[in-house]
Amino acid sequence: MLIIAIVLFLAALLFFGLASRQQSATGLPGGRVVYADTSRWGKVEKPLYDPVVGLTGKPDYLIEIDGAQAPVEVKSTRTAAPYDSHIYQLAAYCYLSHRATGVRPPYGLLKYPEHVFAVDYTPDLEAALLDIVREIQAYSARSAPPRSHESPRRCARCGYRQHCDQRLDAGGGSAKDLSSNP
Ligand code: SF4
Repeated sequence: MLIIAIVLFLAALLFFGLASRQQSATGLPGGRVVYADTSRWGKVEKPLYDPVVGLTGKPDYLIEIDGAQAPVEVKSTRTAAPYDSHIYQLAAYCYLSHRATGVRPPYGLLKYPEHVFAVDYTPDLEAALLDIVREIQAYSARSAPPRSHESPRRCARCGYRQHCDQRLDAGGGSAKDLSSNP
């Protein structure tokens, strides 16, 4: 299924060997320790979704910073510096927030047990994120298995149906049929 969810995104980061690496020689912004007023953190009700790159995900919290909705991601790992995979995940949420609101978050927050890090959402970080998304898309296009059934009822009950381009609709058409015949 040619969708990219953050879960898959993280799995792909593992695949690409980035998840266990702490920020070091990769050129990612490392983040700075900040004080965080958690009373300003707002729970996120619905996942954010960008159909242009097919990216979706739900940060743990959003906080208003300079008129933007900046993501906050909470991690249970004890670490002295953010992990690359966490920085990319946060960058994905910054990207999604920017796409959803039209206002670019200046940074996002990664909360670990001992510290909260502010990670700048720089153009370089966005470019690095989109490079990985394109790599994952290319990999998915090469390896995604085709739909394994012909049951519209099964698709109707599926949690991925909203974003799946292989779904079958009750009328017998598929998402691909519908998109090619507006
Ligand atoms: S919508 Fe249908 S084809 Fe797509 S993932 Fe769900 S069950 Fe599979």
